[in-house]
Amino acid sequence: MAQENNSKKVGDYSPEELKQFREMFAVDLKQYRATNRRYANPILVVILVGFAAIFCSFLLSQTLIRWLLGAGICLIAAGVIIIAIAASSLQKKLLCPACHDLFIDEIGECCPECGSASLESGDWIGTQHCNACGKNLRIGRNRNFRYKACTHCGVFLDEMGL
Ligand SMILES: [Zn+2]
Ligand SMILES: [Zn+2]
Repeated sequence: MAQENNSKKVGDYSPEELKQFREMFAVDLKQYRATNRRYANPILVVILVGFAAIFCSFLLSQTLIRWLLGAGICLIAAGVIIIAIAASSLQKKLLCPACHDLFIDEIGECCPECGSASLESGDWIGTQHCNACGKNLRIGRNRNFRYKACTHCGVFLDEMGL
């Protein structure tokens, strides 16, 4: 085999193959969401207990209760850190079935909203503009788009997006 799958772009696949990729991805996505839910509830409980501890420490407002305040803050901080770690490790498991690259990743050659390879780098904050769907794509904490297509190969994978 001369050509690796990795170098193929969306145009190199037949409609049948593209459909297969979407089906494969739907299975992965389902698993991803189920794992997400499994993690979410215990973490939420930890954070709630933390808030309850802080609340109680204020309610009782005695110096003896100061440790409760500390414990509450620690629990919340731990919960937030676990969420960050779990989210990033989960995201690394979600791969594009076509090019096997990360699905949720820095923006590559293709627009994650529509899969078109007509991105233009925009301003100094790193915003990219897609000439096909007209979106200005901002990543990071203020991400203003959904990952629907693979940003590396342009294969459209999920209507709802992530
Ligand atoms: Zn891909
Ligand atoms: Zn686009």
